[in-house]
This record gives sequence, C-alpha cells and structure tokens, in this order.
Amino acid sequence: MRKQVIAGNWKMNKTHTEAESFIREVRNNVPFKGDVESVVCAPFPFLQKLVEETMDSNVEIGAQNMHFEEKGAFTGEVSPVMLRDLGVTYVVIGHSERRDIFGETDEIVNKKVHAAFDHGLTPIVCVGESLEQREADETMNHIESQITKAVEGLTDEQVTQLIIAYEPIWAIGTGRTASSEQANEVCAHIRKVVEKLSGTEAAEAVRIQYGGSVKPANADELLSQSDIDGALVGGASLEADSFLKLVEAGK
Ligand code: 13P
Repeated sequence: MRKQVIAGNWKMNKTHTEAESFIREVRNNVPFKGDVESVVCAPFPFLQKLVEETMDSNVEIGAQNMHFEEKGAFTGEVSPVMLRDLGVTYVVIGHSERRDIFGETDEIVNKKVHAAFDHGLTPIVCVGESLEQREADETMNHIESQITKAVEGLTDEQVTQLIIAYEPIWAIGTGRTASSEQANEVCAHIRKVVEKLSGTEAAEAVRIQYGGSVKPANADELLSQSDIDGALVGGASLEADSFLKLVEAGK
C-alpha cells in the first residue's frame, strides 16, 4: 500500500505573519499519526520558522526549488545543504513554472534530483504537458521523455523513494482540472515508464501525485484513482481550512 502524500505549493505567496498563523492551525488540527503524509512547500524566507513550528507534528516542510551545487559563487541561490541543515525534508523540482519562466532544462532537473538524494531530501519531481502537446497527442511521449531524463543515473532504490507529480500545464491555476480518468491514465503511464526504467518494485513503490486545480470539491474523486497517490496543490493549499480538507481526503 502506498501512502498518499498531500503537498501544498504556496508558490510566491504569503507574508511571515500569514505563514505563521497558517502553520499553527494546520499543525494543531492535522492527525498526528495519520496514514497520509502532509507537506507544506513554502518560500525560502519562511522555512526555518515553519520547521520550528512543526517539530512534533505530522506536517513536513518542503522547499519549492534549490540549486544542485553544495556551495559557492551562485548569487541568489539556495543549496541542498542549507535546506537539510534547516530541517527541510522535501523539495519540489522541475515545476513547470521553473521550466517555463526560469529556463530549467531536463538536465538541470536531473542534477537537482541527484543533489536532493545526496543530501537526504525527498524530491517531488514535476512533469506535465502543455495544451498544444495534449492536442497534438504528444502527452505520453513527452511525459516519458521528462521522466527518463529526470531519473537518469538514479539507483532503483532511489526511484522507490521518489515522488513524481503529474501536473498538466493547462490545468495549473486555470480552474480546469484534468478529469479523474485523464489524470489516472497519465499516472498509470508514468508507473509503466518507471517499471521499464527501474523495475517492478520501484514502479509499485513510487508515489505519483496529480496537480492542477485540485480543491476539496474534487480531491476525493482524484485521490480514489488507482494510480494517483496524492496531490500537489497550489491555490487551494493557501488556506489552512482548505489544506486540512485535502489532507482528510488523502486518508
Ligand atoms: P493550482 O492547484 O493552483 O492549479 O496549482 C497547481 C500547481 O502548480 C502545484 O504545484
């Protein structure tokens, strides 16, 4: 049985005060030993405070990005060593906004995935097709190519620990969710690709999230699909109440 992972991705939102009141409400209301993993992926300036506030709770803290080098002359960047040192345990890698707006390539994504594992962070690797690719029937090939490049050089054991987030770009922040069948079809395809690359054990263990306009109203249906093991949520993860409902749906 794979444990569901509900991860909120705040993107570039919230002030320090808002972050603090969110995390206190979530920490106090999330089931302590739930059979679901709950993760909050927040902007860098809030991470230390969020880790402190969630020490003895069932909430883990993730970053939304990082550099793959350990240290050095990379002005403005944050390293995996720094994240690990703070007590951060997850990191989102290769989000479509990073790929599209900041030019992150498959090669960079692969380096970051390796760096995450090297430093004890669980990578949440994002893949997904654009609307044009979906309409041109290129979804499956595109996803296979992204996954293949992202996991290159990883051991089968590392792939077992990976979280993959399938986020169709046309469904992000648009209110247009992939139907549960569409989402499950691609997640099942991802599992097949993982099986081809890393074997049956890894394919059965790897957790695959869906992301793209997930909200409490559609979470139950999406999360009940056979190959969907959680959600990566933007807009609906910003309010504590809504995030807690999503965690509840993941149980
Ligand atoms: P929304 O849930 O706002 O569509 O964002 C999805 C996403 O990009 C999460 O990483």
